[in-house]
Amino acid sequence: MISKRLSIVASFVPQGAVLLDVGSDHAYLPIELVESGKIERAIAGEVVVGPYQSAVKNVETHGLVDKIQVRLANGLAAFEETDQVSTITIAGMGGRLIATILEEGLDKLSSVNRLILQPNNREDELRVWLQAHGLQIVAESILEEAGKYYEIIVVEAGTMKLSASEVRFGPFLLQEISPVFVEKWQKEAGKLEYALDQIPEKNLAERQILIDKIQAIKEVLHASK
Ligand code: SAM
Repeated sequence: MISKRLSIVASFVPQGAVLLDVGSDHAYLPIELVESGKIERAIAGEVVVGPYQSAVKNVETHGLVDKIQVRLANGLAAFEETDQVSTITIAGMGGRLIATILEEGLDKLSSVNRLILQPNNREDELRVWLQAHGLQIVAESILEEAGKYYEIIVVEAGTMKLSASEVRFGPFLLQEISPVFVEKWQKEAGKLEYALDQIPEKNLAERQILIDKIQAIKEVLHASK
């Protein structure tokens, strides 16, 4: 059984896709997708030897060596055009690292139909990067698991023009305003209010940055009522 987070990532993988999972430490995601019959073959890419070996062992244990190739590689170096990869998943890493991985393999993305990204932080920076590189968000999801909030961003080729609010909150998440979204941003506002209380009154500029952030959250949550 994979985590709720990974199962939502998996739900965005199209039926019959050829998958590259970047940072596939146990190859959980490709194994689940092949075993469920949603896909027939996948590449599990991993840059660190220990996690790579865990992925190799898991794929062997599940008897899937003919369907899942585990490759020791940095980011998108894990595949060539001849692999005909159609979908790439990158989950469980920081938003900046995800953008760096995509940037370093940008020339390879033209043959890929869909990216499913699950940044652990800096979702706004990732959205800005996607917008600047001819990529368009086509769906988003938000979930809570073990007290943490995760956003999943599904991307295809295309252009988009996000407002500041869409960059921060996510264009689709902002339209949906799900209960999990409200919970995440209420907690975030609480943290920012606490941080604001710690800043001396005289540090006006520093305080204003937090006041603006809190205000933006309150506006979004208020509009949802
Ligand atoms: N994707 C899995 C998940 O979401 O549960 C594993 C997440 S784990 C926290 C991140 C993994 O990505 C680590 O095993 C790390 O070694 C790997 N990783 C980090 N940078 C990478 C890169 N540039 N190329 C391939 N793997 C990378």
